Amino acid sequence: MRIILLGPPGSGKGTLGEKLEGSTGFPRISTGDILRQAVREGTTLGKQAAAIMAKGELVSDEIVTGLVRERIARPDCRRGYILDGYPRTMAQAEALERLDGDRAEVVLALEVKDETVVARLGGRRVCGACASIFNVVGRAADQIGECDDCGGPLQQRLDDSEAVVRERLRVYKEATAPLAGYYKARSTYRTIDGEGHPEDVFRRASAVLDTERKAAGDRKAR
Ligand code: AMP
Repeated sequence: MRIILLGPPGSGKGTLGEKLEGSTGFPRISTGDILRQAVREGTTLGKQAAAIMAKGELVSDEIVTGLVRERIARPDCRRGYILDGYPRTMAQAEALERLDGDRAEVVLALEVKDETVVARLGGRRVCGACASIFNVVGRAADQIGECDDCGGPLQQRLDDSEAVVRERLRVYKEATAPLAGYYKARSTYRTIDGEGHPEDVFRRASAVLDTERKAAGDRKAR
């Protein structure tokens, strides 16, 4: 099974993906994380992607599809995987179909209000060591600096600045939002209310996923 997480920046795909990774045992594949790591390591890919990401624009379909092709071929993806931030364009959705079209698929589309996105991204911090995601809204000042998971330094993403967030939302509406129509027509597409506490969103998503995994299992058995 493949789980595709859809939704605008700040809708909680990464946080939900981390939790689903724990509950399903499927690896979470975040193209954004892979690209950020390449930027940190200063690889050729990282050098190509850095300026594009800093502006909030999209890295080329060929590059990200190459990353996904390589990643889903690894043995830990045999049972299933979770895609967070891919596909983001129609061309990527079609490429994924060519790469791994036979797999059962559930698309979970997170729905959040625009003001929730802005508030979440302003408070988002990411661990520079292990990439865990946190939100500092409501946290005491002395809890803001360190990762709860590994003690690494919490950092604000460069592309979470207000101007870049605006551009990322524009790109989302133009290039990625149309994917909802594509998946509604050809796959199991379910919307999830992404408002509120991450644990509540996880519970809602898990309930939907349990139903869909059971239905996929029944279809296979028939
Ligand atoms: P994310 O962590 O998913 O918000 O991604 C951060 C940035 O990485 C995006 O704003 C894009 O510049 C780039 N990126 C991540 N995934 C993709 C993708 N599937 N297609 C194109 N660019 C991507």
